[in-house]
Amino acid sequence: MSAPGKSYDPVQVTPLEADQVDRMRATALAAIAAATDLDVLHEVQREHAGDRSPLALANREIGALPPQAKADAGKRVGGARKTIKDALAARQVELERERDEGILAAEVVDVTLPWDRAPRGARHPLTTLMERISDVFVGMGYEIAEGPEAETEWHVFDALNTPPHHPARSTMDTFFVESADSGVVLRPHTSSLQIRAMLERDLPLYVVCPGRVYRTDELDATHTPVFHQVEALAVDKGLSMAHLRGTLDTFAHAMFGPGVRTRLRPHHFQFTEPSAEMDLLCFVCRGRSLEPGGEPCRTCSSEGWIEWGGCGMVNPRVLRAVGIDPDLWSGFAFGMGIERTLMFRHGVEDMRDMVEGDVRFTLPFGMES
Ligand SMILES: [Zn+2]
Repeated sequence: MSAPGKSYDPVQVTPLEADQVDRMRATALAAIAAATDLDVLHEVQREHAGDRSPLALANREIGALPPQAKADAGKRVGGARKTIKDALAARQVELERERDEGILAAEVVDVTLPWDRAPRGARHPLTTLMERISDVFVGMGYEIAEGPEAETEWHVFDALNTPPHHPARSTMDTFFVESADSGVVLRPHTSSLQIRAMLERDLPLYVVCPGRVYRTDELDATHTPVFHQVEALAVDKGLSMAHLRGTLDTFAHAMFGPGVRTRLRPHHFQFTEPSAEMDLLCFVCRGRSLEPGGEPCRTCSSEGWIEWGGCGMVNPRVLRAVGIDPDLWSGFAFGMGIERTLMFRHGVEDMRDMVEGDVRFTLPFGMES
């Protein structure tokens, strides 16, 4: 330390002593080395190299020293400040490089990763089943008929011999578009496609009509307001119930395996005469659950038969409504629900599974062609 002068103030001058300056420099260098990211380094810089840092404050005291002491202290403090400044700059370069390398590593694209593992969806089993059904009929020479889902009441009811007062026309069962007076409904069955086919196509006529239909049902385990039906219609000369029965048995065989046949029970529909409900021989127990000592069967509730749909010979009034002479031509028609067919074909117990669109439900069916 230089010789004490008149204005010597030991308290103020202490920071300018060599060991004090060395200590401030060492503390600053340690803090710089310990800074692990740029934000921390910025703090270190403010603390050890900023305007209020110990060395900056010490620097202010230099002016009060005698000339020789001023030069010594100036060199010491200036040297320490430069060392710290250089260390800060070097550490900044280092930390910036680490940050950039980190970003590159985090954003790297590994070109060796498999690129074709996007999870695949699956076609809905209702769609594949409808196509399968269509294929069976196309194989028998039928054509596929399609039509609008918003239909006129005439196509849906009048032409199908369903008079104006018939309960099927009520808003309790049928969705009317806009108002009940509009004359347009969401088709409650695919039979309107039969009417369109008979109006638009030449005879003889063999069509199969798969499609979406609507009824005012609440969604629950066994009902849904939107479901699917498939109907088939044949109009030719000399068709009889025997042809109907043979076609149904061929269809049952194609869907459920050899030996599965159908059974008809007399019934009433407006658009067929005679009409029948059709049952399917249980394709699991094949009716053996009915025999003495037979194992109980869950699929048919041990009844041996499963209700499948409705059928009959086309009512002559329906033929006349579309301009076909019932004395020359006869026809048969039948229809069944696709959901119901899927339910007992694959043991699906809740109809809601079919409308929720969960891929875990559809995937197991995905490979079915
Ligand atoms: Zn059974």
